[in-house]
Amino acid sequence: MRNANVLISGASIAGTTLAFWLHRNGFTPTVVERAPAIREGGYKIDIRGTALAVVERMGVLDEIHRLRTDVRGASVVDRSGRRVASMDGDTFGGREHGDAEIMRGDLNRLLYDLTRDDVEYLFDDSISALTPLPDGVEVTFASGTRRRFDLVVGADGLHSNVRALAFGDEREFVRNLGYHVSIFSVPNHLDLDRWELTYVGPGRTALTYSTAHDEGAKAMFLFATGEERSDDRDHERQQQTLAAAYAGEGWEIPRLLAGMAEAPDFYFDSLSQVHMDTWSAGRVVLVGDAAYAASPASGQGTSLALVGAYVLAAELAAAGDHAAAFASYEARMRPFVERNQALGPANIKRMVLRSKGQVRLSMFMLGVLARMPGRERLLAKAMAPIQRAANAISLES
Ligand SMILES: Cc1cc2nc3c(=O)[nH]c(=O)nc-3n(C[C@H](O)[C@H](O)[C@H](O)COP(=O)(O)OP(=O)(O)OC[C@H]3O[C@@H](n4cnc5c(N)ncnc54)[C@H](O)[C@@H]3O)c2cc1C
Repeated sequence: MRNANVLISGASIAGTTLAFWLHRNGFTPTVVERAPAIREGGYKIDIRGTALAVVERMGVLDEIHRLRTDVRGASVVDRSGRRVASMDGDTFGGREHGDAEIMRGDLNRLLYDLTRDDVEYLFDDSISALTPLPDGVEVTFASGTRRRFDLVVGADGLHSNVRALAFGDEREFVRNLGYHVSIFSVPNHLDLDRWELTYVGPGRTALTYSTAHDEGAKAMFLFATGEERSDDRDHERQQQTLAAAYAGEGWEIPRLLAGMAEAPDFYFDSLSQVHMDTWSAGRVVLVGDAAYAASPASGQGTSLALVGAYVLAAELAAAGDHAAAFASYEARMRPFVERNQALGPANIKRMVLRSKGQVRLSMFMLGVLARMPGRERLLAKAMAPIQRAANAISLES
């Protein structure tokens, strides 16, 4: 088989799924992951629409449903903690029957376990240089090893290393939507039982939730910052920025923030998307967030990673020639990506409200909605765009 040896950078959703399908299609994938082991933990993510067919074809749909977060519902609270409006978990999450919400770490572990016997995984390493050869790519690893591969795939996320090496500085491709997001584990001091509470202040939203299979809870913060980039990866300074953004806020926010310094999994980043004119350069191609991050606000990043990996592997198997395969992968995926990326900026404006007036109006409307007969139908209608976008591609070419 041509293009048989494929190096994938990143052992998360896109990387492990691609490794599965390449192996299934007769290729020999190797995955290099910077972390010393598969990354567990994290936040809840959704698998919707066509992505469900991908995991079903991998034989893991039942296991995914077994691991689901089982979040029963969500409430919006005011400053004093009074529940202004509540709704069931699926309606709130824009999910239809069969869609699955699962912790990212659980999905990652499941996909890794599914592939670990058939795929070579190199942990605690990273690509430091890519040198094009007439019939392949010479890869130098940070560990000093050098190896030749037929193709190299960047599945290494929003701040992709392969994208930087093969396409250039991320400033050209990563677009901050004007917000930052932070999430980390906290003790479940509110005794939430598979429930989510959201507080909305002007320019800053905070929420906390508990899920099945987890005794603790998560605290998540979404706040407006403007579109300037921040490359500061220092946790202490990030935590100061976060605390300053929520200074003076009530509800449980001080208690939730108090947990950040001790949290083992503190995450802080801009809410960003990746936009590129092309996802391949020679024998290098990108998949998942590395190529087309849609931002956490879209709720569709995981589904894009699953579907993108499936389509890329299918096109490589069908075409034999990498250039033709990369072109068809892009032609099939781009309209799907664009529809799902469009959800990000639209959703974030509903999640973070700009002014006190907007917050007051929104609380009033939610209160009215909560008492309205047939409200679940109305809410489901409001969530319809995410379902249309999630189903806007077929796995058959
Ligand atoms: C707070 C938050 C909430 C989210 N909520 C949702 C949601 O509700 N629904 C949804 O669908 N999506 C959600 N997402 C998005 C989702 O997590 C991503 O879209 C999805 O994980 C993309 O998968 P990926 O495999 O492309 O990249 P990632 O999951 O980012 O994985 C990249 C992998 O590459 C590795 N890596 C990085 N650099 C290197 C390197 N130099 N060498 C080797 N390996 C490297 C990383 O360690 C990681 O394992 C959310 C994201 C965040 C941050």
